[in-house]
Amino acid sequence: MATAPPEDQRRLLEVQALDTRAQQLAHQRKTLPALTTLTELDGRIADLRASLVESRTRVADLKRELTKAESDVEQVRNRAERDQQRLDSGGVSAKDAVALTDELGSLATRQAALEEIELGVMERLEAHEDALAKVEAANGELVAEKTRVEAERDAGWAQIDAQVQAMVSERAKAADGLDTALVTLYEKIRTQRGGTGAAVLNGNRCEGCRMNLPPGDLANIKNAAPDAVVRCEECSRILVRVSGVKTGAAAG
Ligand SMILES: [Zn+2]
Repeated sequence: MATAPPEDQRRLLEVQALDTRAQQLAHQRKTLPALTTLTELDGRIADLRASLVESRTRVADLKRELTKAESDVEQVRNRAERDQQRLDSGGVSAKDAVALTDELGSLATRQAALEEIELGVMERLEAHEDALAKVEAANGELVAEKTRVEAERDAGWAQIDAQVQAMVSERAKAADGLDTALVTLYEKIRTQRGGTGAAVLNGNRCEGCRMNLPPGDLANIKNAAPDAVVRCEECSRILVRVSGVKTGAAAG
């Protein structure tokens, strides 16, 4: 059976307490409420992205359509102006004057039709610009909220990291000079047993697995030398014998 000075075994419990605290902090770091909120926000931003892209494309298309409609009207208007100038100049034959007047009539009709189209595009563009503004605003709010929650997350992390930082030196101090074989065994069990490698023997109970030891095991432990490193038969953790311990959850 492995042995280690009884004082080292008791000090191992301090190391265990600090390691447990470090594990809790690591868990806290991974489960900050802000992280859940950020995942939700990312989902909502992604959901909105499709409508945003669609809406922006629609508005851009309508703007192009409007430019085309405006240029169509402009062309007809220019043609009519030129015809009118020729007519007004008086330098055309009577036959040409009739033709020009006819053309001016049909150009006016054409212009009215094109202006109708232009107006329709303008109305549609306006409606889509309103819709786009709403989607942009919703997106902007989500992005702003995300920035705010990211800051909240960073503050939470910084707070935890500061505690971890402080604990690293505290842990080093607690483990300083401890029996090397004992620490190695502790680390091995701790890795296998979800973070707890050493526990107090509290009366007849192992505080590692919270099981009462059978009388035979208990008798063996009582008979073991003080420097013997005893283990729980149930969970195989190092059982530290501390006289008169009745603390924490065990007291209830
Ligand atoms: Zn146990």
